[in-house]
Amino acid sequence: MHSYISTRNACKLCSPFGACIVMRGIERCVPLIHGSQGCATYIRRYGISHFREPIDIASSNFVESTAIFGGRDNLFRAIDNVTQQYQPAIIGIASTCLSETIGDDVKLFLHEYKTKYSKKIICTDSTFPLIFYASTPSYRGTHIVGFHEAIHAVIETLAIKLSTNSKKKNRRINLISGFVSAADLRELHEILSAYCVPYTLLPDYSETLDGGVWEDYQRLPKGGTTIKDIESMPDASGTIYFGHAFNKDRNGASYLESNFGIPMNTINLPIGIENTDIFFETLNRITGKKTPEKWDAERNRLIDAYFDGHKYCSGKRAILYGDIDFVDAMNGFLNEIGVETLTAADGAEIDFATILEKAANMKPDFIIGNSKGYYIARELNIPLVRCSFPIHDRIGGHRILHLGYRGTLNLFERICNALMEKNQNTAASGWTYI
Ligand code: SF4
Repeated sequence: MHSYISTRNACKLCSPFGACIVMRGIERCVPLIHGSQGCATYIRRYGISHFREPIDIASSNFVESTAIFGGRDNLFRAIDNVTQQYQPAIIGIASTCLSETIGDDVKLFLHEYKTKYSKKIICTDSTFPLIFYASTPSYRGTHIVGFHEAIHAVIETLAIKLSTNSKKKNRRINLISGFVSAADLRELHEILSAYCVPYTLLPDYSETLDGGVWEDYQRLPKGGTTIKDIESMPDASGTIYFGHAFNKDRNGASYLESNFGIPMNTINLPIGIENTDIFFETLNRITGKKTPEKWDAERNRLIDAYFDGHKYCSGKRAILYGDIDFVDAMNGFLNEIGVETLTAADGAEIDFATILEKAANMKPDFIIGNSKGYYIARELNIPLVRCSFPIHDRIGGHRILHLGYRGTLNLFERICNALMEKNQNTAASGWTYI
């Protein structure tokens, strides 16, 4: 875990934001921010400008007196309101800097709510929603830490039933994705489906945050990982966990391993051939099957593209930035295609202002990361290859495919084309063949 220092325009976001994205990826789940209204508004606003979808996020709405006397009553009222207005299957509560600083004991509050207070206000036990709680003060970590914390919290709350079959694991797969795009989640579904074994993909906001048009407003959009699939996670023969940004002793995969004996496989996000090969090898080991032919063909297509495009990107120099899981995986991919990474900024100790100061002397050919790098690209007059999160200045950021052989191909072409366009735009005379 990194230590944190003062930064200017840091490349990281607030921790409950990551938790809310996980909550939006669970079927009929409503995220509830325990804190001030501004935290929920910021998270909603930030998410909407990337996903271009409505994102309802409830809040316990702290005021001055709440900050002094505690947020217990506000939280109870918020749960009542959410239950009555949304009829959710589950409510995910994420704490904020303020509620954590004043020492609100949310677990104790929830125990009280369930045993006493609820019975007066809310109907019956059968309509009482499930509730899980993620402790996510932003001074403890970034949006990625909040993301992983929420995954741990929901698994700890729901994966409590050991099936009768659990000693004889049945080739079920658990895949806990990192903070990836909606298109990436659809790609993961396609890959997992090709193995013809049951699986749990957690979270799954491929539809809830990238659905179609509606005739009427839907408070709870269709889609998301079902509660049943989360409850089934202890029956799997293995868990694949993308990324390294989480607490090694406290995360969803290690919880399943230590409580139910499900082996944890921690691997990089499958970006680049090497990382994607490792992903498929892990799937093959867990399922006892071979890589489906279709994906061997995609791998071949990617290698062919590497041959076609290497002359445009090999030897180029890049500045890379973003969340730590993305940066780790991307760094491997860039090395694979012959791009030298001058700076790999994961937002912990390097901020945008520092990147810009350093970058001016490094003479990079392009920068790659989210849309927050726009000013650096503009200042240095070099291409910005937009990917990962957040992308606020283009349409379709949440539909960029990064993962697997097809995602790698997409990124590879984006990089080559950005470099070719820059050459074309700055050439003394116009040309059309490269
Ligand atoms: S106060 Fe903390 S939780 Fe609220 S928006 Fe700011 S960083 Fe996020």
